[in-house]
Amino acid sequence: MNDLDAHLMQTYRRQPVRFVRGEGMHLYDSEGKRYLDFVAGIAVNALGHAHPLVAEAVAKQSSILVHTSNLYYTEPMVALSEKLCELLGWADGRVFFANSGAEANECAIKVARKWSRMQSGPHRYETIAAFGSFHGRTLETLAATGQPAKWEAFTPLPPGFVHVPFDDAPAVKAAITSITCSVLLEPVQGEGGVIVPSPEYLPSIRTICDGANLLFLDDEVQTGLGRTGRWFGFQHEDAHPDVITLAKALGNGLPIGACVARGGAAEALTYGDHATTMGGGPVVCAAALAVLEVIEQDDLVTNAAQMGVYLKTKLGDLGYDVRGQGLLIAIALGRIAASSVVEACRLRGLLVNEVGPSVVRLCPPLIVSKQDCDAAVSILGKVLTDLEVTG
Ligand code: PLP
Repeated sequence: MNDLDAHLMQTYRRQPVRFVRGEGMHLYDSEGKRYLDFVAGIAVNALGHAHPLVAEAVAKQSSILVHTSNLYYTEPMVALSEKLCELLGWADGRVFFANSGAEANECAIKVARKWSRMQSGPHRYETIAAFGSFHGRTLETLAATGQPAKWEAFTPLPPGFVHVPFDDAPAVKAAITSITCSVLLEPVQGEGGVIVPSPEYLPSIRTICDGANLLFLDDEVQTGLGRTGRWFGFQHEDAHPDVITLAKALGNGLPIGACVARGGAAEALTYGDHATTMGGGPVVCAAALAVLEVIEQDDLVTNAAQMGVYLKTKLGDLGYDVRGQGLLIAIALGRIAASSVVEACRLRGLLVNEVGPSVVRLCPPLIVSKQDCDAAVSILGKVLTDLEVTG
């Protein structure tokens, strides 16, 4: 497979497999081998692969109108902005469409800085974020990301971020200074190892932000749109943020991100403050509208909640430490290397991925069934038994 790498920057440690097609819960490689997909393109393919209604929406829209730029309105963009605000229950919400999760977060950070300029008092520009967080790989979102190992080669990073331990509201409060304008958090840290905070955490952050006149920026790029068993992760505790960012599941694999703000934050960015040529294009917005319609019609949010409980229980029976919310689940494997589990599962036709040296994540499409969960747990059980024996 080495020749495949000749002209690709070596930024990924790709698995030695070449996928050629997908259908529902399954991917097929160039040899025709079928894999049960519990990675879902890293929590992206909420509807699984090649969903007919998304394919139809893309085909139809791309035969009518693909791109106009943001100099004009298009119907899918307007309809999607309305739909997202309706799902959030934010009558005063406004959306900026981006092309990825990192870009959606860039927008949220700019919203916070601009919003703070519109307040009276000193110039405030600093965002408090959490250690272990992941917000993207652009320089600004890398600076927001609480994983110093990912920064090292790229310093100096843009200033304006401080980090505190996750799930520690008093630490957030203690980090507030005269230049703080916002707090940026994931409701569940995904890339950081699937860390679910205590139920009090997000409501405490909301209270702290209200008390100190800060914006609460909620990065739901991974958790949003049903993944945690609610439409949005913040809904578990009803701790409404001021700004939410979405991406991954929104396009079911097509590149789209969204930054949605409400209240004063929604009015912060005005003409000339922010832009992207491709953002909110008709094809990706038509795809996203189809995705949201299917999630709603097939009640996939409830399925995610129910299958999440089922999968966690079954995984727990294997005797390892299991954590997560909805269909964002991790198994902590103790002394077993996650990379060996990922490889052995793949050889047996199951895709999972590692989010730590000994932590494996399972984030299947929201369409997953009990039978799929049973099949995945059965393969994992065999793999772990083999590795326990040989390890
Ligand atoms: N924020 C969170 C919580 C994420 O999990 C990710 C990606 O994994 C991002 C932001 C970055 O999204 P993207 O890779 O689309 O830029």
